[in-house]
Amino acid sequence: MAAARPTRTPMKSTRLPVGLYAAQCEECFKWRLISTQEEYEDIRSKLIEEPFTCHRKTDTSCKDPPDIEYNATRTWGIDKPNIPKTPEGFTRHLVLRKNFSKFDAYYVTPTGKTVRSPTEMQAFIGANPRHKDVPLTDFSFTIPRLMDETVPESSLKEGLDSSSAKRFKKAKDEFAHTD
Ligand SMILES: [Zn+2]
Repeated sequence: MAAARPTRTPMKSTRLPVGLYAAQCEECFKWRLISTQEEYEDIRSKLIEEPFTCHRKTDTSCKDPPDIEYNATRTWGIDKPNIPKTPEGFTRHLVLRKNFSKFDAYYVTPTGKTVRSPTEMQAFIGANPRHKDVPLTDFSFTIPRLMDETVPESSLKEGLDSSSAKRFKKAKDEFAHTD
């Protein structure tokens, strides 16, 4: 499962929203676009029990060309499997820091409050008895692994100070060696 964003959209805010969602077929390894976040969360929530395959998409089989290729034209994050589906009324957001250092996961509650940690969520549920039946385990702040090799080089130069840029360069080199 992956969340990816195009590298060429305008960057006005300090957080970059995820532009599209994709899942990899476990049989042919092609990437298939998943059209909605809800569907993506549904597939991801039980990925271990029900691995994704092409034919879960309507009119699609492993013989069809991939919807999208994994490459550096977009910045990719690889998600952990089996993250619980977002409880009704809440929304889960994944954003990439503008300096391409990491993803952040947060929730927006039915009251419009932004919640960024399990402790904050516990406090919110405690203060809002209407949501007391929502298990805290249904919230996950697990973030996708940022694929350094797909971070644009220009962002490394512009967005990070030199020590961070060096760290990134090193990570990219190591990745290339182990690939
Ligand atoms: Zn397939």
